[in-house]
Amino acid sequence: MDFELPAEDHPRRKPIRDWFESNPRPTPRQLAEAGFIVPHWPRPWGLEADAELQLIIDQEMKRAGAFPPRNPVAINNCAQSLLSHGTEAQRQRFLGPALSGEETWCMLFSEPSGGSDLSNLRTLARREGDHYVVRGHKIWTSLAHKAKVGVLVARTAPDLPKHKGLSQFLVDMDTPGIRIRPIIDMSGHENEYNEVFLEDVRIPADRLLGKEGEGWLLSTTQLQTERVALSRPGAIWGHGPSARELVEGLAEIGALDDGALRDEAADVYIEGEILRLLAYRSLSDRMNARTPGPEGAIHKMLAAPHGQRVVELAKRAQGPRGMIAGEKPFPTQLEHGDDPYSDWDYAFWFSPAVTLGVGTQEILKNVVAERMLGLPRELDPTAQLPWSEARRKAS
Ligand SMILES: Cc1cc2nc3c(=O)[nH]c(=O)nc-3n(C[C@H](O)[C@H](O)[C@H](O)COP(=O)(O)OP(=O)(O)OC[C@H]3O[C@@H](n4cnc5c(N)ncnc54)[C@H](O)[C@@H]3O)c2cc1C
Repeated sequence: MDFELPAEDHPRRKPIRDWFESNPRPTPRQLAEAGFIVPHWPRPWGLEADAELQLIIDQEMKRAGAFPPRNPVAINNCAQSLLSHGTEAQRQRFLGPALSGEETWCMLFSEPSGGSDLSNLRTLARREGDHYVVRGHKIWTSLAHKAKVGVLVARTAPDLPKHKGLSQFLVDMDTPGIRIRPIIDMSGHENEYNEVFLEDVRIPADRLLGKEGEGWLLSTTQLQTERVALSRPGAIWGHGPSARELVEGLAEIGALDDGALRDEAADVYIEGEILRLLAYRSLSDRMNARTPGPEGAIHKMLAAPHGQRVVELAKRAQGPRGMIAGEKPFPTQLEHGDDPYSDWDYAFWFSPAVTLGVGTQEILKNVVAERMLGLPRELDPTAQLPWSEARRKAS
């Protein structure tokens, strides 16, 4: 690693600090208009910020107690595709409300037939004049019930090989034919996930994102972006409690007096520090203009089970009290804006999901094996067949 964190009196820090002093309680829209939500983007959405300026903005935002809006699908994954592949009309229509969080987005990718094998998806989009007509069934769609915009990946060319016949669309979630059914998960929170049924949904052709057939490229880029974006120190996909906060909490309640628990806490703390150093390494790469590699996959593969260990240890330190829903493990709660994962109890019940969502551990291991270690690629005899033919043979 070869970089220095920007000092307190860094000359680039002053204008940012001045902005937060003049806008002490900024709304998400003000943050978005100032370019602070995606500072690395070009103007007018961002500030063309290099990694150093991004870090300064991040620190000053925290110092001011300001939080970005919660619109992860747009901000972390998909809106970036509008910059590179969208039309000017799409950018003007969608980016402002997405970055300010005024329009929540959701990601209509996974299907009941399997989420890992995205290229095999069955939802069809048939062109009819100036519309596409879509039929299909999506599942595990986070935030679909709140979303105004869905990023849909559907098959537009069933007679092409599976990776080549996919396209992406920006769909209004209140379009007739869209039905949303909530899934209640083990955290007891209804509506984190949903099933989405699409029954002859008519999508105007100008809502195609990129070109027909670019759906695979866009979707894999968006999933990769999320893996990097989700690699902060918090236990749940970079959000919520961290290993440092766990150790502080355990010390606060006297749990570190137990030697066995203290050993486990030390292990988890060390893992957290290793992850922090890995994050610095990728920051160093960015600050020195080195091209990012598939290290996002490695980071997620390590960070997800680490997060599960952080919240599991907090829960176990509570003893039988931990079995009571809503009981806080530590008297001092974290403050992370409206981030639901700030709640240790909720973070614990949610945590099994983190090794599944956005690429399961096995899929990430495949990425590392094939792209970093150069091991032989997984055999797929259907890869070059027309999708419709492969499907006929499979049934
Ligand atoms: C918290 C959370 C949020 C989510 N949000 C969304 C969302 O907003 N939108 C969306 O579209 N989806 C979402 N998902 C779905 C998620 O993308 C899928 O769960 C994931 O891709 C895995 O797909 P699957 O559940 O169908 O499991 P499958 O793909 O059926 O896999 C089942 C098991 O087989 C293993 N496996 C599969 N293929 C291979 C292989 N080639 N080699 C080795 N092992 C393999 C997997 O690792 C897994 O253990 C979310 C999931 C979670 C947990």
